[in-house]
Amino acid sequence: MQELKAPVPPSPLFGQSAWTVQDSEELYRIQTWGEPYFGINQEGHITVSPRGDRGGCVDLYSLVSDLKLRGLNTPLLIRFSDILADRIERLNGCFSKAISRYDYGNVYRGVYPVKVNQQRHLVEEVVKYGKSFQFGLEAGSKPELLIALALLKTPGALLICNGYKDREYIETALISQRLGQTPIIVLEQFEELEVVIQAAKKLNIKPILGVRAKLTSKGIGRWGSSAGDRAKFGLTVTEILEVVERLKEEEMLDALQLLHFHIGSQISSISVIKDALREAAQIYVELAELGAKMGYIDVGGGLGVDYDGSKTTFPSSKNYNTQSYAYDVVAEIKEACTSRNVPVPVLVSESGRAIASHQSVLVFDVLGVNKTHCREITALEKNEHSIIRNLYETYENINVSNFQEAYHDALQCKEEADSLFSLGYLKLKQRARIEQLFWGSCNKILSIIRELDYVPDDLEDLEKILASTYYCNFSVFQSIPDHWAIDQLFPIMPIHRLNEQPTERGTIADVTCDSDGKIDEFIDLRDVKHVLELHPLNQGETYYLGIFLNGAYQEILGDLHNLFGDTNAVHIHLTSEGYAIEHVVKGDTMTEVLQYVQYNRDDLLERMRRETERALNDKKITLSEARLLLQNYEHSLNGYTYLTEY
Ligand SMILES: *Cc1c(COP(=O)(O)O)cnc(C)c1O
Repeated sequence: MQELKAPVPPSPLFGQSAWTVQDSEELYRIQTWGEPYFGINQEGHITVSPRGDRGGCVDLYSLVSDLKLRGLNTPLLIRFSDILADRIERLNGCFSKAISRYDYGNVYRGVYPVKVNQQRHLVEEVVKYGKSFQFGLEAGSKPELLIALALLKTPGALLICNGYKDREYIETALISQRLGQTPIIVLEQFEELEVVIQAAKKLNIKPILGVRAKLTSKGIGRWGSSAGDRAKFGLTVTEILEVVERLKEEEMLDALQLLHFHIGSQISSISVIKDALREAAQIYVELAELGAKMGYIDVGGGLGVDYDGSKTTFPSSKNYNTQSYAYDVVAEIKEACTSRNVPVPVLVSESGRAIASHQSVLVFDVLGVNKTHCREITALEKNEHSIIRNLYETYENINVSNFQEAYHDALQCKEEADSLFSLGYLKLKQRARIEQLFWGSCNKILSIIRELDYVPDDLEDLEKILASTYYCNFSVFQSIPDHWAIDQLFPIMPIHRLNEQPTERGTIADVTCDSDGKIDEFIDLRDVKHVLELHPLNQGETYYLGIFLNGAYQEILGDLHNLFGDTNAVHIHLTSEGYAIEHVVKGDTMTEVLQYVQYNRDDLLERMRRETERALNDKKITLSEARLLLQNYEHSLNGYTYLTEY
């Protein structure tokens, strides 16, 4: 059962006493989603402790300032290699703890699904940090297979070959055995079996085969349809039995060694995982009894990340931790096997999100704030229109006992004034006055209801309506596409000034000119909040916000909407002196994004030069204007697609 969270009133302003870092910790709930990696120091800056509590800490704000001095401007994607290492270690640690707790007679051999984040530096690091755990890779397509084959160099680590496969894919995987790889070809479609049999005969290489089972126990939430009888992938039980028969005919049944299932990503409920485990474990045991030389069970992905820190079955959360997940996997499989005297298999999981989410942070700058609803109200003058006088009186008299009534009076005045205007009875100036009085009233009412324990239903939206818009230098479509596509929540908060009370309430708008390029849903303990507590901008100081836990899926799903390209990215590695910048991957230049859509830089420049020449001949442009135009044009082509000078 999906347990939906009940709506709660907007979070109240914390008391009027001096604001502390602890207040910010509570407000942004950083411990619930950020532990053990993210915290706040006494200067009010976010800190990153990539090795958790094992020492080493980076001040994120100082890091961003440091990178800026090196010409690396925001928006900036910062990857912490040590977090990645820590995630891999933790996952393996949880499984090894579970294995000894249940006295499980076999090992865990996890694999990293390349599709979660295919960036070369990251996959290289996964292989490097995973080496001592014999951590392998999972490929879901031919290009991912090419990556995995070239990068995986860990003896004994598994190379799980998933996805749709053609002859070339299968042959390549088979021959890689000769290079010392352990490729397991997982049949996702019945038709793949014949191709494998033919290739194995032709090459005289014995394959290691797996089958992906279509389980009947369904996942829930967004990826619920990844499992179940009508899932896109996997073999039905009937098909699995046909695979067994066919392999027997070829005297190849000993090739079948692995059972795989994947019920979807971000499974928020542990009971769903347990159901799937039980069903899969039974299939495994039966395959062993049918004579297949079973040795591996691959429980797929799905291990969730608690993006909102609520520990619930809310889609952006999960009601279990990695340790309890590992306990359940080990216990369920052991029980099924021992009760039927089948040896327990090597455990494989393809946990992607859980490994890659935490390691990267996107930091961007706020370009400006729009506060249309916040003008000073001047005193009533003689002879103002009666409707203005009415509204003014309402505005003046708003208090704790009449605010709800006052709201409806103000609303009514505004509606009346709007129709008077349409009929030509009010001037534009008078309409503006009404508008300001109306918003002024709303603001007064809002400051009253923020102090209440309970907000009346009809006033619930006021906070959202009156929120400021923070215009930010990044693209939702490029950097957190899942927020736009599937309403995925990510923790978002300022990375500095956290010892200062955030007195504003805002939503976030990106730099694309798409009205979907916005964020107006934020994490909360229960349900979501529609406004985020933010600081007013300080003159002459850049205000930076960070989006956290965005290391899985976002980069590759990101697109070039409005031709905003990849952001600058850096890899930070802890050292004994502090940190080192390991790799810098400059964001796309305009020349690069324009090339994706078939514009050639030289050709564009030449066209501009000709047009300018023509205008010069026609005396429509001066020489210095022409020079400036061409200079800017060329400079832009070489530059970052995001805003750099304003
Ligand atoms: C996407 C995918 C994964 C990764 O899932 P996570 O939930 O990110 O761990 C694993 N296995 C398969 C087959 C997948 O398609």
